[in-house]
Amino acid sequence: QKNVMAYAQHGIRADMLSFAAEKVVSRLQNEGFQAYVVGGAVRDLLLGIEPKDFDVATDATPEQVRKIFRRSRIIGRRFQIVHVMVGPETIEVTTFRGGDKALQNAQGRIMKDNTYGSMEEDAMRRDFTCNALYYDPVRQEIIDFHQGAADVLAKKLVMIGDPAARYQEDPVRVLRAVRLSGKLGFEVEARTAAPIAEYAGRLKNEPVARLFDEIMKLLFSGHARECLRRLNSLGISDNIHPLLSALKTADLPENRIIALALKNTDERLRADKSVSVGFVLAAILWPQLNRYWQRYQQQGQKPVPALAEAVNTLRERVEKGWGVPQRFTATMREIWQFQPQFGNTRGARPHRLLAQSRFRAAYDFLVLRGQVGEVDADLVQWWTDFQHADEDTRTEMTLNAQ
Ligand code: ATP
Ligand code: MG
Repeated sequence: QKNVMAYAQHGIRADMLSFAAEKVVSRLQNEGFQAYVVGGAVRDLLLGIEPKDFDVATDATPEQVRKIFRRSRIIGRRFQIVHVMVGPETIEVTTFRGGDKALQNAQGRIMKDNTYGSMEEDAMRRDFTCNALYYDPVRQEIIDFHQGAADVLAKKLVMIGDPAARYQEDPVRVLRAVRLSGKLGFEVEARTAAPIAEYAGRLKNEPVARLFDEIMKLLFSGHARECLRRLNSLGISDNIHPLLSALKTADLPENRIIALALKNTDERLRADKSVSVGFVLAAILWPQLNRYWQRYQQQGQKPVPALAEAVNTLRERVEKGWGVPQRFTATMREIWQFQPQFGNTRGARPHRLLAQSRFRAAYDFLVLRGQVGEVDADLVQWWTDFQHADEDTRTEMTLNAQ
């Protein structure tokens, strides 16, 4: 059932690849190896989307690839891959993987998958049919073993092989189904969708760092809100990861700040603007933190110490079991700890606040809280004016403020 598509059928020209991708493939072929651009890049080109990175698959072993490219290194993650650097680009080169020799544990989870195989076996090891297309820029051909091209055109996400078995082998494919269908606007085919609710629970056993990575890809896909809808419609259970649980509640009225932050993130990413991970995470976790903050204030604490204690309460959990790297938790904490201080509009304090490096992010967060009605519009306006005023006006503002 191997299908070879000629240029006339797929319309992808070699010059649609990045310089580096084209170069790596042709170099490997010149050395006598098979080499193809594979995965998301081919799928995206068929959809008319600009690929964000290029992966190459080859029958050369990692050592052989390493020897051909001077600027390359072997990365020993779950699967051995080679990073080949060409100019400013990095191309991930993987050796065709073999199928049934992979080692599984008692739950059917693949533990080790470093045996090599043929291109056809490699296609079988990939997750969705749309991700198992191989493009040869030299011949301008697409090789398709699983009718992936037809599924791309029909905008259907279809698991290769028996879906339940494939989720069992690697539960992270559940999150990939959520992200890819959300990002591409694909419908998850019924057979592919059916086992998701059952196997999602196994994500709990995945290394938390890998979960966090996948959740990041979902949040910063440019289609976070669509992914969130899929999280709920595909029946992904709660308590897999605290961030996913928080995301799933974004549609509750009291959590509007989450939905708003995701909307802004999607819009910024689609306009090619930068986004701050720490800022977005701060917003996603804010409703929980805010509940602690309010509680401690009701128990008689002043706003600033009450917030510090709320951060501490959340911190244990955020920094231990959640896999959030420290560089992000630090930003989150700074943004949060600014919030009660915005209540001071007199004397030297506003000036000191303005001079701090996190002021801008914290102010943006205040604006977000204003938009969901948590903070008086007047206070937000005061800080907007204060920021843009000259020295004299600022001094005056901090004298006259009530
Ligand atoms: P993106 O556009 O987000 O990069 P992608 O499909 O390229 O999407 P990658 O994580 O870059 O995703 O993976 C590259 C390819 O490797 C995929 O297209 C797929 O063929 C294969 N792959 C990745 N993760 C898995 C997995 N968990 N199980 C099976 N195949 C996978
Ligand atoms: Mg990719």
